[in-house]
Amino acid sequence: MATLAGQLARSAASYPTKTALVFEGRELTYRQLDEEVNRHAHALTALGVTKGDRVALMSGNSDGFVIAMYAVFRLGAIVVPVNPRATSPELRHLLTDSGASVLLLGAGMTPAVEGLVELDPIERAPHVLALDVLEGYPSLRVQTASQPSTAPDVVVEESDDCIIIYTSGTTGLAKGALFDHHRMLWVGHSMASLGTTGMDRHLHVAPLYHCAQLVLFMLNSISVGATNVVLPAFEPQAVADALEEHRITVFLGVPTMYQLMLRLPDLAERDFSAWRLGFFGAAPMPPQAVEQLTATLPAVDFFQLCGQTEGGPTGIYLTPDEVRARPDATGRWPIPNCEVRVVDADGQDVAAGAAGEIIYRGETLMKEYWGQPEATADTIRDGWLHSGDIARVDADGFMTIVDRMKDMIITGGRNVYSVEVENALAGHPDVADVAVIGHPDETFGERIVAVVTPHEGGGVTLDGLREFASAHVADYKLPRELIVREIPRNPSGKILKHVLRDETVSR
Ligand code: ATP
Ligand code: MG
Repeated sequence: MATLAGQLARSAASYPTKTALVFEGRELTYRQLDEEVNRHAHALTALGVTKGDRVALMSGNSDGFVIAMYAVFRLGAIVVPVNPRATSPELRHLLTDSGASVLLLGAGMTPAVEGLVELDPIERAPHVLALDVLEGYPSLRVQTASQPSTAPDVVVEESDDCIIIYTSGTTGLAKGALFDHHRMLWVGHSMASLGTTGMDRHLHVAPLYHCAQLVLFMLNSISVGATNVVLPAFEPQAVADALEEHRITVFLGVPTMYQLMLRLPDLAERDFSAWRLGFFGAAPMPPQAVEQLTATLPAVDFFQLCGQTEGGPTGIYLTPDEVRARPDATGRWPIPNCEVRVVDADGQDVAAGAAGEIIYRGETLMKEYWGQPEATADTIRDGWLHSGDIARVDADGFMTIVDRMKDMIITGGRNVYSVEVENALAGHPDVADVAVIGHPDETFGERIVAVVTPHEGGGVTLDGLREFASAHVADYKLPRELIVREIPRNPSGKILKHVLRDETVSR
């Protein structure tokens, strides 16, 4: 039976001396990685971790993250990645919701854990350990030193659960999507169909706790024996240096990363000759930024990916030629091994030109929301995952995400899709970042509010923005109010609109 840790063992057997992981000057070959994973698995067993137990892993990107995760897989236990930026209440929610018996902490992760003492106690408090060294906590790594490097005697099946990935919590409380080994391994077939191979060298910068970097790139890459360079955090210069130095062939960036990298004065002059495939997604990327990206790095083939945690993350994509031709679109094809439809409220496919909800069906969809049968039944209906994303479809089959159902603005009885308005405003020369939200309004039900961060030295006015955007969208979609401030985004670059609404509505 194929399992994630089984695939690692196979990669180790086929390519024992090949570099598997590179992090801050340390390198592990596939054989060393496999042995480290076994030692960690034995140490976790000594802590009482057995099949089906949940092990929470709160860490920035590091080699220790990957080793610990595979150790949990090897025991048939379930990894629960936690956003390293989670606050104490968010961490508490994930720990109680998943019922984790162990919490592993990466470097610098102590404040959120220490804040737990000020909250209601967790009924079954987890055993807390440092992955490496953290003052005041036992170290998992120290406990692995005396453990054997042979695989523990545990039978893990393809149908065993392996991971609970929490959604980003963009629209509310994060929900835990449960997956088994079979589902996670199928994602590998999808990525291979988009051109990634065992010969690739990946650079992992986007957060590993999030499904996109973790499943599409890290799990898939280890399964096929590719090389993985891991950076602890995003910094544009460091990413450009790593792409060059490690002769990276595949890279995923979220839109904000590419937008910041494009500000490097020498990006086009760098030696990125090894870099074949670039991927972007996780949040809408303004068409102007897509154009700038493909023009600055013409030798890289950029795919757009759009999916969601619950999909595994299955979704839709644009080929590199389509990205060049249609920087405004989000996707045209279902990711291989998946089906996609765009439907109206009655479940009928929408006509060309109309907008509807994207729904997905395929091998990689989550099994369920962990411990939430009602939410699962609401989201997966007749085998179709209802994404909550609204896309407009054109006659050529291009789908463009125009909003999330929860963020759509209804003003004067008409639906306004916020991403459409954001894209219309993003092209304004003084706009560095923009979010469009609805505020309650006595006359219109909701009023369209543009929240703008201007470029340094740039000035924006409501009238100026309205005039600029009127070339792209109808009058009733133009903002009626302007707020100038920073826009809260999560590490994937997603705008936290519920936070923005809460913070601005009482003004
Ligand atoms: P929550 O479900 O907890 O509110 P979330 O939906 O943001 O959070 P994820 O599963 O990480 O959590 O994100 C999936 C969502 O991200 C999609 O539903 C879609 O709205 C957005 N998204 C992903 N890729 C793209 C893309 N390429 N373009 C536009 N939006 C995207
Ligand atoms: Mg979601």
